[in-house]
Amino acid sequence: MFEFLTLFLVFYIWHALGICIGYHRLLSHRTFVTSKFMEYLLVLPGYLAFEGSPIWWSVIHRAHHRHVDTELDPHSPRFGLFHAHIGWTMDKTYRSHIDPHTQAKDLTNDPIYKFLEQGGDWSKAHALNFGIGFGFRGILWALFGWQVALASLLAGLAVLQIPLMLNVFCHMTHLGYKNYSTEDDSVNVWWVGILACGEGWHNNHHASPGSAQSGMKPFEFDLAWQVIKLLRALNLVRNVNVIPHERLVARFGEPGNPKPVEELVAEPVLSQTDAQAQAKSESVRIRRKSLVASNSK
Ligand SMILES: [Zn+2]
Ligand SMILES: [Zn+2]
Repeated sequence: MFEFLTLFLVFYIWHALGICIGYHRLLSHRTFVTSKFMEYLLVLPGYLAFEGSPIWWSVIHRAHHRHVDTELDPHSPRFGLFHAHIGWTMDKTYRSHIDPHTQAKDLTNDPIYKFLEQGGDWSKAHALNFGIGFGFRGILWALFGWQVALASLLAGLAVLQIPLMLNVFCHMTHLGYKNYSTEDDSVNVWWVGILACGEGWHNNHHASPGSAQSGMKPFEFDLAWQVIKLLRALNLVRNVNVIPHERLVARFGEPGNPKPVEELVAEPVLSQTDAQAQAKSESVRIRRKSLVASNSK
């Protein structure tokens, strides 16, 4: 039993870091630079945790940041908990305001990601992902026995829940706290921070999506950030982007001392990728509209 739990834990961390570092901080936000080979190595454990097509994941996540907690956000809990958790994944393809070819151009030209995307047909892409995921466990079974295969399968399925649950809990203001007065509902939730290997410091992340570091306070343990620092020390990644706490306080203000709305929407968004920047003006327009509406209530 001890051996099985150890295997489960090792696979859990490997798969979780595939999402946190590979899918999220690298593909979605480009918070650091690395070689193509290293990029595939970082993304692989996320794909094997049934995370779906990397293009799909990244372009949906970029849309989440761009339209956070508005009606154009793909999974805001403001519009229903079931929808925010898993309901949104049941769509057949992208809504009209999400277009991988313009918002994830850096990924759509990659032949492997293109194949995994299956032409934007979500059902086919998910089916392919589950097929490859179960095939991988079949290979593990043949090579190392059923215990290794089962530990990997259960860890992958557990990790699959990380972003799904994070989308809900880290946008429910009563479940966590803010370090920065962002205009969205994002909060830091300590137990998600631990389960998600550093991704639960979600208010920090919404304040600085282009930063490779999510845990800002000493107690906000961010395993993914520690691994990125290690990779940097080993010269496996470079140009690691970090946005200091002081700059975020100056940009957003802190709870109890927020910056005025007019100043908030007038400033540029920190460290966005080109793909995110393309739709920035649209985002600011929508956000300004919803802020003006909520201020006038
Ligand atoms: Zn969020
Ligand atoms: Zn993000």
